[in-house]
Amino acid sequence: MQTLSDFYQSVFGCKTYKISLDAGCTCPNRDGTKGTGGCIFCSQAGSGDFVASRKLSIPDQIEQGKKLVESKLRGRSGERRGKFIVYFQSFTSTYGDPVELLEKYREALSCEGVVGLAVATRPDCLSPAILQGLAEISRTHFVQIELGLQTSNEKTGRLINRCYTNEDYIEAVYRIRETAPQIHIVTHLIFGLTNESEEDMLNSVRFVVRHASKVFETDEKNRVIPFGIKITSLYILKNTHLAAMYERNEYQPVSKEVYFSLLKKALPLLPENCIIHRLTGDPPKSLLIAPSWTTDKKRILNELHKLLNV
Ligand code: SF4
Repeated sequence: MQTLSDFYQSVFGCKTYKISLDAGCTCPNRDGTKGTGGCIFCSQAGSGDFVASRKLSIPDQIEQGKKLVESKLRGRSGERRGKFIVYFQSFTSTYGDPVELLEKYREALSCEGVVGLAVATRPDCLSPAILQGLAEISRTHFVQIELGLQTSNEKTGRLINRCYTNEDYIEAVYRIRETAPQIHIVTHLIFGLTNESEEDMLNSVRFVVRHASKVFETDEKNRVIPFGIKITSLYILKNTHLAAMYERNEYQPVSKEVYFSLLKKALPLLPENCIIHRLTGDPPKSLLIAPSWTTDKKRILNELHKLLNV
């Protein structure tokens, strides 16, 4: 299985760093279009807790992001190495005026050292105008669309108040593939959602693989097309509906041992052309209520490395 850094290395020919950005969007699950209050785990920052302020211009956000990775960028002799993927992460980054949003994506791509664009969104928020615009960009730049799915269990989908369906997800995947097969699609799943059994979680992985392999197997030149997956364990942040459920004893997060044992069963379900983008959450410590094991990122990554080599 190809690692994410190998995959990016093969695409860009160098090491890349992601810079998280805020396009100034909200979410249809917050403004009343699809729902209010958002998904039960979503923070006030719309999952963009490490992103620079949306009050800054896109180039200023990028400059701020570059400073965060500056130490990693310098080689032994002090020369600058590596390039950047700009990652529109906060809320639903395709939800808004398509002209303005596409302008922001292009502005970000024009900044020095930027080689790729990643956009996080919901499957029901890819308007024809946005998708056409992203397809155009993908003819000259690497483009990655990250789709939240979280689970393929519709009942859980309702419990977490995601306000879109599996059909929305399938439709989005097929539309992206039809419009621009070169766009790299990444699906986000969450383990440990309310009331989910082990089989529910493994079924979500099977669901992603099933639809990915239908549309992603090979391109017109018979080359295998990679697709991406992110799996994280659910964590509880302050001021969320999940936090209130936790206080009422209606929800308990999974332990590290349980999460790892789930991954051990899930990873063999992924085919060769699946790129694993993430297996750890990255909760902001100032907002985290539980579980505390998710903050020890270095240790978790070490243990995950061993797990992946099994
Ligand atoms: S779809 Fe994303 S941004 Fe919107 S409420 Fe859910 S997690 Fe938050």
